[in-house]
Amino acid sequence: MIYVSLISYTPDPERTIAAAARVSTSPVGATKLMEKLTPEAVDRLLTQLLASGHLSPFEHASFTFAIEGISRVTSHQLVRHRMASYTQQSQRYVSLKKADYVTPATISARPELEAKYHDMVRDCHRLYHEMLDAGIPAEDARYVLPGAMETRLVMTMNARELIHVCSLRLCLRAQWEIVALFERVKAEVERVAPRLGAELKPKCYRLGYCDEAESCGIFPTAKEVSGGK
Ligand SMILES: Cc1cc2nc3c(=O)[nH]c(=O)nc-3n(C[C@H](O)[C@H](O)[C@H](O)COP(=O)(O)OP(=O)(O)OC[C@H]3O[C@@H](n4cnc5c(N)ncnc54)[C@H](O)[C@@H]3O)c2cc1C
Repeated sequence: MIYVSLISYTPDPERTIAAAARVSTSPVGATKLMEKLTPEAVDRLLTQLLASGHLSPFEHASFTFAIEGISRVTSHQLVRHRMASYTQQSQRYVSLKKADYVTPATISARPELEAKYHDMVRDCHRLYHEMLDAGIPAEDARYVLPGAMETRLVMTMNARELIHVCSLRLCLRAQWEIVALFERVKAEVERVAPRLGAELKPKCYRLGYCDEAESCGIFPTAKEVSGGK
């Protein structure tokens, strides 16, 4: 079960972004702007910044998440997004006592394969422990652990990167587990910054069309929009 918790974030993140943006055109500094900006002005500024693609002010608001229960398959995809910070539980220093692992729904839906899947993962975990007991270091015994094994990590992303990564990973063409992860990340951001949270959406909502080869159906593809040209 994927667990995401926002453990810390820039206080008043939307106002911070707006104040940073206004510094460039204002005779007063960000301290005064933080006091002066009304919620309506913050909302207006964020909308303008997003429409104009002037996204650097969004880098001033950061969000730190505790993430648990995702597979190593998904954490591997996650850390490809390099404009973020990650600290992941080490399989060198922490030996995995319990076989906690992710089972994709497509496998659960096939009982004849699901049983083999569970057997295989548990066999790997048993061999892992046999090797640990025989004195093999955890950093080597872990080679038998499958990508299904659960992991936990802390991730910090600024709002600009969150918008970018969600545009890629909330797309239904992305893999289901990373989509599910970013749905929870979005929900956590929405709790404390609803205007910003609303901007965490698949890229097609910004583009107005789907730029993948095949659309999931929410928006037509670029080719369909241009009438095949
Ligand atoms: C649906 C989906 C499927 C994918 N499938 C695969 C796959 O099959 N195989 C695979 O390997 N990856 C795959 N990826 C990962 C993908 O290729 C990217 O590595 C990942 O999405 C991170 O992208 P990012 O834009 O956050 O870029 P980052 O790598 O985090 O880079 C951030 C920004 O910095 C720029 N940048 C970073 N490094 C450089 C550099 N050296 N030179 C110039 N500019 C740089 C980038 O242009 C980008 O704007 C997939 C991603 C998605 C969403």
